[in-house]
Amino acid sequence: MKNLIMEMEQFAEDKNIPIMQKDGIMFLMKYIKANNIKNILEIGSAIGYSSILMATTGDDVHITTIERDENNYMECLKNVKKANLENKINCVFQDALEVNLTENNKYDLIFIDAAKGQNQNFFEKFKYFLAKGGTIITDNIKFHGYVGKSQDIESKNLRQLVQKIESYIEFLKTNEEFDTKFYDVGDGVAVSIRKDETN
Ligand code: SAH
Ligand code: MG
Repeated sequence: MKNLIMEMEQFAEDKNIPIMQKDGIMFLMKYIKANNIKNILEIGSAIGYSSILMATTGDDVHITTIERDENNYMECLKNVKKANLENKINCVFQDALEVNLTENNKYDLIFIDAAKGQNQNFFEKFKYFLAKGGTIITDNIKFHGYVGKSQDIESKNLRQLVQKIESYIEFLKTNEEFDTKFYDVGDGVAVSIRKDETN
């Protein structure tokens, strides 16, 4: 397992695939254990790195992970197989915004780590599939340190993307339904918990 993880880290570095940073994934794994999380929905599998590590946190942790890029999806399948985790990780090849989940599927944790400009759309689509007491975690809230400095960015595409993350942060901060804490680990992680657990 350790070798596979190292191979995946190397592969991601060589191919420029933005997998979670070490302290970010450690934070996530700790959170899963501390909060007794069993059912996870991940948006953005890439090569399965975060899925595989999350799945190792407990025997009864199950993950559904969605990926729209075919090459990454294939790589994810391959790695999940190598890790012997096919019974715990369900890889789905689809655009997350087009996925149809049934209402009976509820998740203790929804981990958003896909197209950064779509964070709010993912959040608003998938919050209905959060189990009572569940958490939505969003990665790359700092976006390599650009967040908070969008006005200084020359490239229009990058500036617009960073502005979207900035407005997502505002959306989280002003959200009536969820309480969000921001953590300065990895590339920045937001942890959102539904305020009223009574209904
Ligand atoms: N969670 C992974 C890294 C994901 S990188 C890890 O830490 O190991 C982001 C991935 O999200 C990319 O593979 C990209 O193809 C995918 N993605 C982006 N937008 C998506 C969408 N709308 N639906 C599904 N996957 C998406
Ligand atoms: Mg990420």
